[in-house]
Amino acid sequence: MDRLKQFFRGSRKGAATIEFVTVLPLVIFMCLFVWQFIVIGMAVMEAQSVLKEGVRLAASSGDAKLAEREGRSSFQGSDYYSLDSYQVEIKDEKAIAKAKVRIKVLFMSSSPFTYSSSAKTPIYDDTNSQMAGSMMLAGPLMTSGGKFGPPVANMRMTSPFGGRNDPMGRGYRNHTGVDFGASEGTPIYAAGDGVVTRAGAARGYGNLIVISHGNGLETWYAHMYSHQIGVHVGQRVKRGDHIAGVGSAGNSTGAHLHFEVRVNGQPVNPVPYLGGG
Ligand SMILES: [Zn+2]
Repeated sequence: MDRLKQFFRGSRKGAATIEFVTVLPLVIFMCLFVWQFIVIGMAVMEAQSVLKEGVRLAASSGDAKLAEREGRSSFQGSDYYSLDSYQVEIKDEKAIAKAKVRIKVLFMSSSPFTYSSSAKTPIYDDTNSQMAGSMMLAGPLMTSGGKFGPPVANMRMTSPFGGRNDPMGRGYRNHTGVDFGASEGTPIYAAGDGVVTRAGAARGYGNLIVISHGNGLETWYAHMYSHQIGVHVGQRVKRGDHIAGVGSAGNSTGAHLHFEVRVNGQPVNPVPYLGGG
């Protein structure tokens, strides 16, 4: 019994030393561990932002090389991590960015971590624009006192024209036209007099009809099914002619008309041409 008491007394005397010696390295180790995670977190965040920026720029400019250069130079890095590789490419009408980040291992002289990730965004995309757009702007666009007549009788716009950051957080979207919600088969009318220069399949658009009105002015109509196309290339049409029916072909979640106005090939906001805005 006495021996046992003595043993405890003895160990209590040295308690402070034991704690100090065992706990301090543990605290240091834990600090390093936490710091390592902070470093990894920062590296991942920067990689994600440079990926997002890369696909956004590539999608809006159509220039992958430019996006790659900009992305590479915008990556700041630190003493603890650096950009190992970074590529941006445009393939199948999608902008794709890939990044690899090298992260130092802080408390061991071992080989570094690497973090690889990629991001993708479609260049032409109508898939989600209807949903995204209807939250921002919805309702009838009754007027057509503009240069062009109504491409559908009831112009209920479900998605506006223009590039924006997707409110659903899926990156940058560039909407090259406006969408009019209408049930399948609803007649599509020529917005003005002109000549049909395209009538058939087009990637993303499903099917596409283009009418040239002269002076570099065109109207585009998309997403109809091929059997609904009622015109052919070279055909002269008059404003108000029934040219097709509303469909949901291509990148489309529901029946609607995707309508564009192009001036010298560049998409412009169709709303003023329809007498709105
Ligand atoms: Zn559209």
